[in-house]
Amino acid sequence: MPRNRFDLEKSEAHLLAPYAQSSSVSRGRVHQEDQHPFRPDFQRDRDRIVHSRSFRRLEYKTQVFLNGTGDHYRTRMTHTIEVSCIARTLARALGLNEDLAEAIALAHDLGHPPFGHLGEETLNKLMAQHGGFRHNVQSVRVVEELELKYPEFNGLNLTWEVIEGLHKPYPANRLIEGFIQPSLEAQAVDLSDQIAYICHDLDDGLESGLINEQELGELDLWRTTWKEALAPYPHLEPERGRYYVLRTLLGRLVDDVINHSSREIEEHAPQSSDDVRRFPALITFSPETARLSRELLKFLYSRFYQHPALTAVRRRSVDCLEQLFELLVGRPHLLSPQFEVRIKKDGAYRATCDYLACLTDRQVYIQHRKFIGGLPSLETLRLEQPALL
Ligand code: MG
Repeated sequence: MPRNRFDLEKSEAHLLAPYAQSSSVSRGRVHQEDQHPFRPDFQRDRDRIVHSRSFRRLEYKTQVFLNGTGDHYRTRMTHTIEVSCIARTLARALGLNEDLAEAIALAHDLGHPPFGHLGEETLNKLMAQHGGFRHNVQSVRVVEELELKYPEFNGLNLTWEVIEGLHKPYPANRLIEGFIQPSLEAQAVDLSDQIAYICHDLDDGLESGLINEQELGELDLWRTTWKEALAPYPHLEPERGRYYVLRTLLGRLVDDVINHSSREIEEHAPQSSDDVRRFPALITFSPETARLSRELLKFLYSRFYQHPALTAVRRRSVDCLEQLFELLVGRPHLLSPQFEVRIKKDGAYRATCDYLACLTDRQVYIQHRKFIGGLPSLETLRLEQPALL
């Protein structure tokens, strides 16, 4: 006998903690749909996200290194998969709903524009008089409006709980009066995002040679993790040693969140998933690890993200984005009939912003070559930074 949705929902009652968000008590979807015979709601949402076009595009969007400038570096897609792995670990250890945590993790960066945070700043500047641009807000817009899959409505029609988890910062977008935090599953994704980028940006930064282990030795978190990891292996070859330190760091951060959050949950004793939403954040680093992580992030911002080798290439790429924006906002007929429909609904500025935010890094170059011409090709960008290959 196959296990149907009712069986799976019943098993949640045994597996999940009382403060977890059960599928069976979801606040539902904006557009009424029949329930699936086999898949609970959050599992269904996770599948809808993975099958969406915006999810596939994550493969060709910048995390830190411009997409295409090195095949070992993270892309927005590999970042997203790493976040979802960590979120599932946190969720399982804390008795939370893994399907919900995974769905939120897989969707959390769907609204990221091409060229990472510099792309985001550029669109925000261009949209200053028209509502601005933030990738978190755009992730909600992608799943509520921009994905076109269903005959009767726009968007993916995800459950309330998945969309709640995409609203950041939460208090500014709170969905119900009195709620000051989202579900613990959403909080787990937020921490997973931080843990993933701390560890993988260190990894990519070291791999590229733009930062080195000597500099990292200034940081307590790196130094103490390095000692703990390599004390039993004093003769490890450098590359294997580096990976082992990074792996130990990831484990250390995840363990810290699980142990500290578990104590916080015990202390506040929430009795339901809605209780959780009225408490301050319960899924957090311990105060000491939070301090060490902040120190490490400060280092990454000043020495890695702002490294001249990265910003010079990114600057040229966002110039393309700006030029395309200025062209398309005044001459929308250059694009598809679908674009005309969007302009009628949201105006030329928002429609152009949506269009450009959806593009992958390389689609921006292709569009720029097509409409404007004379742009650096990806091959040129590769040649100009041989150290990063
Ligand atoms: Mg992220």
